[in-house]
Amino acid sequence: MASVSLKHVSKRFGSVTAVQDVNLDIQDQEFLVLLGPSGCGKTTTLRMVAGLEEISDGAVYIGDRDVTQLPPKDRDIAMVFQNYALYPHMTVYENMAFGLKLHKVPKPEIDRRVKEAAAILGLENLLTRRPKELSGGQRQRVALGRAIVREPKAFLMDEPLSNLDAKLRTQTRVELKRLHQRLGATILYVTHDQTEAMTMGTRIVVMRDGVVQQVDTPEGIYQRPANTFVATFVGTPAMNLVRGSVRREPAHWQVSVEDQILRLPVAWSSRLERLSAPEVILGVRPEDVSLVAETESGDLTLRGAIRLIEPMGHEHIVYVDVGRTSVVVRTPHHWRGQVGDRVGLKWDPDHIHAFDPTSEKSLN
Ligand code: ATP
Repeated sequence: MASVSLKHVSKRFGSVTAVQDVNLDIQDQEFLVLLGPSGCGKTTTLRMVAGLEEISDGAVYIGDRDVTQLPPKDRDIAMVFQNYALYPHMTVYENMAFGLKLHKVPKPEIDRRVKEAAAILGLENLLTRRPKELSGGQRQRVALGRAIVREPKAFLMDEPLSNLDAKLRTQTRVELKRLHQRLGATILYVTHDQTEAMTMGTRIVVMRDGVVQQVDTPEGIYQRPANTFVATFVGTPAMNLVRGSVRREPAHWQVSVEDQILRLPVAWSSRLERLSAPEVILGVRPEDVSLVAETESGDLTLRGAIRLIEPMGHEHIVYVDVGRTSVVVRTPHHWRGQVGDRVGLKWDPDHIHAFDPTSEKSLN
């Protein structure tokens, strides 16, 4: 396997800039996930690495080799797409062997590689079947097998699980992760699904409008989002963002939200003194807010009325209106409350994020 690097890579389609000045180093054996909403440039980035899309600016390296000008077939990488078109008239074995035959790999070598891939993927008993005799998940595994037998320097995967139903998607996710560990493969994986990104990625690259927003471990992305976009894109329900005006008082920082007041300790000065305006966007995840009695006072407690309760079985998602601001709370399943109840919302002081009101970048 090998590392893959993108250096100042951009892609323009006419007047549309699909990818802008992307710099990435995918380390050998890393599972790097490109995550972002539809149209943010994930697929275009992947296709440029594969050589399927010409690069407007910049360079792509596989290992130490500059492959920017090389055609896809000479890049020594394998792609797995969302539409894993298998050849319907060929057996599983033939589907996996086909690419190697074209490359004139000797027969015994083909046999060794196909059988090895089949063992890794649990396809040994299906080698004589045709695609129409397989389930969706099995077909997807054959598509993976086809990529594995090529023994490429790196795998590029574009939403390979998106055609599977929810249960199979979860299963295949686990299989893919195992496969990654077993093969020690370098994988660049595209998805808009944050669960896939969080569970499989060694690191995650969050993209928006063709621009990389943050590159970090799943934990880093979740605990230390670089800006409000990342903060609200990862996490379900999304992080609560509350805008307030800021004033320094002798003993604390006062943040006015709607007609209520939050107080932050002076230790926050290093962050709040960097604000570009006397305003802040505070962020808190739904699991870092607890519902308390309306009468309970606290420096970090807001008050509001319950607008909606979503029972999820193991927990409730509770939506509380604080003036015109809505705050979402995850609360244990044994909690009892009703729509219309007035409650206090107590924020966990150790898990509060602050963002600049203009740049929306994190101050943490
Ligand atoms: P999705 O998750 O929907 O596949 P994506 O993040 O993979 O989205 P891309 O397919 O990379 O996004 O597209 C990025 C931008 O480039 C979009 O605005 C898209 O409309 C544009 N784009 C992609 N391919 C072309 C093309 N061949 N011609 C013109 N514009 C294109």
